[in-house]
Amino acid sequence: MTESTEPRNVIVIGSGPAGYTAAVYNARANLKPLVFEGSVTAGGALMTTTEVENYPGFKDGIMGPDLMDQMRAQAERFGAELVADDVVEVDLTGPVKVVKTATDTYTAHTVVLAMGSAYRKLGLPNEEKLSGRGVSYCATCDGFFFREQHIAVVGGGDSAVEEATFLTRFGSKVSLIHRRDELRASKIMQERAFADPKLEMVWNAEVDAINGDDVLESLTLRDTVTGEKRELPATGLFVAIGHDPRSELVKGQIDLDPDGYVVVQPGSTETNQPGVFAAGDLVDRRYQQAITAAGTGCAAALDAEKYLAEIA
Ligand code: FAD
Repeated sequence: MTESTEPRNVIVIGSGPAGYTAAVYNARANLKPLVFEGSVTAGGALMTTTEVENYPGFKDGIMGPDLMDQMRAQAERFGAELVADDVVEVDLTGPVKVVKTATDTYTAHTVVLAMGSAYRKLGLPNEEKLSGRGVSYCATCDGFFFREQHIAVVGGGDSAVEEATFLTRFGSKVSLIHRRDELRASKIMQERAFADPKLEMVWNAEVDAINGDDVLESLTLRDTVTGEKRELPATGLFVAIGHDPRSELVKGQIDLDPDGYVVVQPGSTETNQPGVFAAGDLVDRRYQQAITAAGTGCAAALDAEKYLAEIA
């Protein structure tokens, strides 16, 4: 079905901190944004976590899903229209943008892209169950919970080494597990890591199993050369094997960098298509925090507002 109305002012695609913040701002500017939240993951990445202690305004912390419920309700309160559906196709190339779900077609003068990015997972049986119970994907977010504990980090690139080095501030010991016998990380990062007395390198190893009933208790490691298995006691596991920005939807229409992140004009949220703005982890390979996503969501809403004023 195609809407018979005039193009809307704003369509927001995505329902994490970036999308909901854009919706709050555009709704309060009386632009009546339409927000596509996704069919299964409405609320974004924080729906999958427990305590969030670094989002300003909540001195005792807040559960991830509660924070997202608040943002959602705040957007709704000012008149944002929320649709729990996936956008499956877009045409962002003309002055009127076309956005399709499996059943309906919508049009708008501006679109805010806020689809986020997915942490790469190990794909092991217990991983999902123990996420937030010892298994984490973000040292900045969760390192603090692992004070004086044995922490394992999986990965070999710059971010894995950076996370492992950062985690030595908290853990009694940090084991960096890498499937080869050398790291891909930059020389300077490696030197820093090797000089750290709390950081132990576990070479030629893969995580074969994540063990624990309610919380993480240990990992089973497999030697990538000999195939031998052994147990590593650890109560924290940080998976640092990269992210995949959810930009497939706009590929070919919106400029992406080689890793798939949306490219925006420096200092703004403008993409290569006039009237299309992008925010949050879909753009940001560096910070990937709820507050930075919310910040750029706000910026995208203000950029969309300005664009609408200019074309009026
Ligand atoms: P997301 O939150 O990823 O939201 C994007 C959402 O867009 C998707 O979930 C989906 O609902 C929707 N979407 C995607 N594609 C489509 C489509 N085609 N159609 C419709 N909808 C679509 N950060 C912190 O600051 N503090 C923490 O303590 C913290 N803990 C974390 C714990 C975990 C387990 C994880 C995974 C992340 C954590 N983060 C934390 C990081 C934080 O969650 C992200 O940086 C933030 O959520 C990014 O916001 P976003 O709006 O860009 O994207």
